[in-house]
Amino acid sequence: MVNADADLPLFFGVAEVHKETMSEPHTTPNPADFAHIREWVFDLDNTLYPHRINLFAQIDRNMTAFVSELLQLDPVEAKKLQKKYYLEHGTTLQGLMIHHKVDPNAFLERAHAIDYSALLPHPALGEAIRALPGRKFIFTNGSVPHAEATARALGILDHFDDIFDIVAADFVPKPAGETYDKFAALNRVDTQRAAMFEDLPRNLKAPKERGMKTVLIVPNNLGETYLESWEYAGAEDSHIDYVTEDLERFLATLVKGL
Ligand SMILES: [Mg+2]
Repeated sequence: MVNADADLPLFFGVAEVHKETMSEPHTTPNPADFAHIREWVFDLDNTLYPHRINLFAQIDRNMTAFVSELLQLDPVEAKKLQKKYYLEHGTTLQGLMIHHKVDPNAFLERAHAIDYSALLPHPALGEAIRALPGRKFIFTNGSVPHAEATARALGILDHFDDIFDIVAADFVPKPAGETYDKFAALNRVDTQRAAMFEDLPRNLKAPKERGMKTVLIVPNNLGETYLESWEYAGAEDSHIDYVTEDLERFLATLVKGL
């Protein structure tokens, strides 16, 4: 397992020091920036619940076991290959489909066979999402059953109009631009009136290019998180409008001003 990279705290330290300058993302929502927004798009994992819950550790173990059994590799080799596919193709699944013709449904079912009990109901988050004007979506590289189980455990599932998952994306994961276009076309989302909330900086580039407001969710306790440094590459780029470590507080503050 790879832990938070040493560069990361430095980056957020720098962002904090320079937060008054125009080029850095803001941390407090300016309601005027969101007054036109009618489509609210949320990533799922590590966005709607904090990184420290670390559901991904379980998913990661399941994926490694799947690869290990499929290709008769020992766990160390299986993990190496899994990470290679994740890096090269955006998801382990995409690599497995391309190189080994894996049945995506079997993989997704296995990957997401996890214990959700670490997730507790978050009524304040539900209320903040409910109060946003317009439609709300979950847009995930995971599966619909995983998104439903997660949102249900958080007690916020009913507040979403729809879930766009890796199956709907024809298994082409974020950050591919075509996947955002597919999402927008399928749901008739006007990206000029949409906002996207995500924990991975690279997944906010395509939305920004399509006119969406972008909000990066960052961990509030880096020491316990499972991140890889390359996943955070680009966090300082101009495609991030806002950065917050507390989605609920961010939305609650925003809702009050809308
Ligand atoms: Mg995420």
